[in-house]
Amino acid sequence: MTTTNTFLRKLSQTVAIAASLTAASSFPSHAEQAVFDVVFKQARVIDPETKLDAVRDVGISGKTIAAVSTSSLKGKIAIDAKGKVLGPGFIDLHVHGINVPSFWMQAFDGVTTALELEAGGFPIKKAYANAAKLRLPLNYGFSASWAGARLAVADGIQDLDGTMETDTKYFGWPRWSKLLPPEQSADVVKMVEREMLDGGIGIGVVTGYAPETNREEYVALANLAAKYDVPTYTHLRAKNTLEPDGAVEGFVELLGVAAGTGARMHICHINSTSLRKVVDVIPLIEKAQGKKLLVTTEAYPFGAGSTVIGAPFLKPENLPQVGIQSSNIYYLKTKERVATNELLREIRSQDPGGHIVVHYLDEKKPDEMKFIDTAILFQDTMIASDAMPFAINGREVKDEVWPLPESAYSHPRSAATFSTVIARYVREQQSMSLIDVFRRGSLLPANLVATASSQAKRKGRIQPGMDADIIVFDLSQVEPRADYVNPRQPSEGMDYVMVNGQFVIRDGNLLKDSRPGEPIMSTIKSITH
Ligand SMILES: [Zn+2]
Repeated sequence: MTTTNTFLRKLSQTVAIAASLTAASSFPSHAEQAVFDVVFKQARVIDPETKLDAVRDVGISGKTIAAVSTSSLKGKIAIDAKGKVLGPGFIDLHVHGINVPSFWMQAFDGVTTALELEAGGFPIKKAYANAAKLRLPLNYGFSASWAGARLAVADGIQDLDGTMETDTKYFGWPRWSKLLPPEQSADVVKMVEREMLDGGIGIGVVTGYAPETNREEYVALANLAAKYDVPTYTHLRAKNTLEPDGAVEGFVELLGVAAGTGARMHICHINSTSLRKVVDVIPLIEKAQGKKLLVTTEAYPFGAGSTVIGAPFLKPENLPQVGIQSSNIYYLKTKERVATNELLREIRSQDPGGHIVVHYLDEKKPDEMKFIDTAILFQDTMIASDAMPFAINGREVKDEVWPLPESAYSHPRSAATFSTVIARYVREQQSMSLIDVFRRGSLLPANLVATASSQAKRKGRIQPGMDADIIVFDLSQVEPRADYVNPRQPSEGMDYVMVNGQFVIRDGNLLKDSRPGEPIMSTIKSITH
């Protein structure tokens, strides 16, 4: 009997270890005896890389995931996560609200890393230094900013500091968004290269805000990205539903440049840049990807956009081409719909950098919502929020107050992008699996950023040795709350949000003093040829 029992016990241990190994839980078997700083017990663990979707204990030591095990792990802090989903925190590639209250809002949306890659930060050293001073709760990072380099080279702006507030102050300046002489254009590209070597993770290119800029410069930026094998992130040059300057043209420019240079080229917010044309551009992207072009996409699940009122596509005479009227534009400073083209013209000239929400597609109409669904559900579309900072009377809310003041306003995407995707596509439509939401929201963004920063290789995964950026939620409880009337309501359902091994949200409560955010910076080395 004793021999049989010993044999059975040994057999079951072997099976447990083998099972944990096949599930990419390759930490040594004695991990079971260790005491971890934190253990999440009996969670439904999702790892998008190994496709693990099974009940496990997850042990955290310091900043790192130390064990993912079928056995019971011991922790100084042990959290019962039975019945809850545990996955890698979302890595948001597209965030403009780089401040503490905006990051808190995103923490409730499951974000653990918030990156400003579309506009970027300029000068990059200042962008990182200023962000570090804020003691941010989430990981952060910036791309090298093409627009910033142009403001410096063409308009001679000296006091940029890597914040969106300063960038938008200079939005209406005359030269940065125009055709430049070849020598100046070359200077811009050189400056962008230096910014990448100083930490910028890829190149942010907002041609949509500067459509008259040099086409050859865009090719040169892509060649630069190809040289270092890092991504460009483009807000495409054209977005109209009707030509001229149609959405298809914008996509075709990027696809052509990606083909001709071999660069990794990421397309920002495919939803708002293609709108009703999404059905025309997706087959183009699909074929390009089939031909091994390194083209990627992202989307957010809303029918409205948010930007600055001076954007070229919001010129009164261009609105019919996009399919909207001035009254579809909501001016945040005065909280009014822009009733007439005359008023639109006036605000554009007085406050070109003023923030607006612009209603393109009606989310209440299924035949318009289907365009958004198509963008989100396209094969490898990543989820990225394009989160804007919350603002009161045109000024960014930076004070560390929680909840946010009554009058603070932003696009609801700043608070509810990922929770909307979970609620709508995973739970209600069941058109996206849990593995897929973490693939689109965590793993694919980590892999894209990892081409520029080796730090990102440790993110987007629940495996031993990876960074402990973890979210835990009850799938039935995740609810987006922010809407266009009241966007300052945090999403519900995130029980735990951990960044680098520290809780930012614990038991559903925000820990205001917890500031574990670290910079994600480029790790590329200079190439002189
Ligand atoms: Zn954009």
